[in-house]
Amino acid sequence: MDNVVLHVADVQKSFAGLHALSDIDLSVKEGETHAIIGPNGAGKSTLLNVCIGRLRPDSGHVVFDGENLTGKQPHEINQLGVVRVFQTPEIFPELSLLENVMIPVLAKRDGSFKLRWFRRFSAEKEIRQKSEGILEDLGLGSFIGSEAGSLSRGDKRRLELAMGLAQEPRLLLLDEPTAGMARHDTNATIDLLKRIKARGMTKVIIEHDMHVVFSLADRISVLAGGRIICQGTPEEVKADPRVKEAYLGEEQV
Ligand code: ADP
Ligand code: MG
Repeated sequence: MDNVVLHVADVQKSFAGLHALSDIDLSVKEGETHAIIGPNGAGKSTLLNVCIGRLRPDSGHVVFDGENLTGKQPHEINQLGVVRVFQTPEIFPELSLLENVMIPVLAKRDGSFKLRWFRRFSAEKEIRQKSEGILEDLGLGSFIGSEAGSLSRGDKRRLELAMGLAQEPRLLLLDEPTAGMARHDTNATIDLLKRIKARGMTKVIIEHDMHVVFSLADRISVLAGGRIICQGTPEEVKADPRVKEAYLGEEQV
């Protein structure tokens, strides 16, 4: 298969008899931004959790860059370059922005995070400069010494994205990156994700906001009731009556 980075093959996942995922087949190509959309409870987060090893599929498998991820631990999958930016910001609120980004930069360099290494290397110019560069790139350069906990909600998401990028992902998985953001923060995040896309990074993005999805996605998979009901380009998905039906009572597509 040409340039397929992520391949989800015939994945099933049930929770106590509830079919959260049924017959899921999905391929993501190198450099592609693939959006997964669908109403609440459709199975989007479950699918992402299967990809990062937080959940094990009942059957089927997930292949990343030719390697079967099924049965691997989340940290092993992460070390392969699969990075998820979580639905709830996971930052260290009492540390500065710079320290928050230095931790994954250091972990990437040394293979795993150990506090004593952090102390030993924290003054190192190279790690500091790299971390500063990432923060500046994401428009957070003027806050590097501030406590992360003091940031606005939108800026916390941006910091979390910085922490994800610090891991130099080969595949970035984003779960609702603009959830809870005001429109201007959403637009800034779209611009940011477009810039990341221009660098060729492969992304899977779960998103409820259709403006975000249609601004960024090359391809879209629509989930409903744990099944993919439609897959295609944004234009194809927009035109598909099954998608409108799945969203009835939710929001306009
Ligand atoms: P989405 O992210 O699309 O809103 P989820 O993947 O979170 O949907 O959930 C899909 C379905 O699986 C829902 O019906 C949800 O209640 C159920 N579900 C998700 N996680 C669990 C779990 N850990 N235990 C039991 N049911 C779950
Ligand atoms: Mg979800």
